[in-house]
Amino acid sequence: MDQRKVLVIEDERDIAELLALHLRDINCEATLAADGHEGMRQAFARCWDLVILDLRLPGPDGLSICRALRRESRYVPILMLTSKSSELDRVLGLELGADDYVTKPFSVSELMARVKAIFRRVESLEKRYPGGAEALAIGPLQIDATGRQVLVNNEIVPLTAREFDLLLHFARHPNCVFSRAQLLDSVWGYGHDGYEHTVNSHINRLRAKIEPDPAQPELIVTVWGVGYKLDAQPQVQAA
Ligand code: CA
Repeated sequence: MDQRKVLVIEDERDIAELLALHLRDINCEATLAADGHEGMRQAFARCWDLVILDLRLPGPDGLSICRALRRESRYVPILMLTSKSSELDRVLGLELGADDYVTKPFSVSELMARVKAIFRRVESLEKRYPGGAEALAIGPLQIDATGRQVLVNNEIVPLTAREFDLLLHFARHPNCVFSRAQLLDSVWGYGHDGYEHTVNSHINRLRAKIEPDPAQPELIVTVWGVGYKLDAQPQVQAA
């Protein structure tokens, strides 16, 4: 396989160089950008396989760069580095469309595990859908997997990267019931004991965006004692 091209936008030089070293170890080509201006320029200069993005940067910060990248039609995976214990950073990063985040100080092995999980996810997507184009229609939902866009009753509904992945996973397996642990494994890419509430909160946010009545879900339904499924014959009427 060709070397994966990774852009690391990080103003702390020690961290940037440590990441570059470990990325090269797993056959990636690492390019470093040391501030927001250079990062912004580099981010659009090539087609990256991954952008590792520090939140706090001189010049445009990580959120501005993330936002700018998400306005592009081509999807590029983004792993965000956030500062210690700032819940707000974490939430903002994911809301703006980062694929995952790691909180500083992080262990390099943890960060590399996240990087590999992102690569695995993208790779399995490419393997299953070579050439890219994939569109799914279920009830009121239209999902453009390639453009990463969702329409409900013909209206675009903005989803975060993770909400989109979650919905896509359900849509590719209509009527299949998944436990929270299975969803963590398939959608987040890593099994995380004790993180099952993460699944619940994402399901709730997704329902709030796509269900006509989130209190009585008809698309993503709860299967008591087991998990969740996407009901492929929803009773939902187009508004
Ligand atoms: Ca920084």
